[in-house]
Amino acid sequence: MKYSGSCFCQKVKLEMNSEPLKLLNCHCKDCQKWTGCAYETAVVFDVETVKVNGKIKFFDSLSDQGNTVSRGFCPDCGGAFMNKSTGLPDKAIVYAGVIDWDKMPSLSAEIYYDNVWFSSCMLSDTKKFQGYFSQEL
Ligand SMILES: [Zn+2]
Ligand SMILES: [Zn+2]
Repeated sequence: MKYSGSCFCQKVKLEMNSEPLKLLNCHCKDCQKWTGCAYETAVVFDVETVKVNGKIKFFDSLSDQGNTVSRGFCPDCGGAFMNKSTGLPDKAIVYAGVIDWDKMPSLSAEIYYDNVWFSSCMLSDTKKFQGYFSQEL
């Protein structure tokens, strides 16, 4: 196992057996509502290398690209930890905060930057995109 993670109550554990493909800040309204935060830091893994140990629930919604996004959370503590999208069937998006990093890799890009809330979110060395950018993944 290369990386491990868990929800807040630790009943759901994650194992990631590959390096992340990308780290992104997503500033879209759906991620703001789902996480309760100004943005979500998403870590993109090959779905084959992500294993979930424990009972999880998924909440489905439709993205602005017409994809179904299934957002996974722990039914006990409610902690959100990952999502999957029909637009990226071979990827799993794990939220950065649930991963037990020794050292977090640097951010590769920020998406839905047209919806950014705080100037303090701005990192000078990331690529910024208005809206979605599947071709970058
Ligand atoms: Zn939990
Ligand atoms: Zn988003």
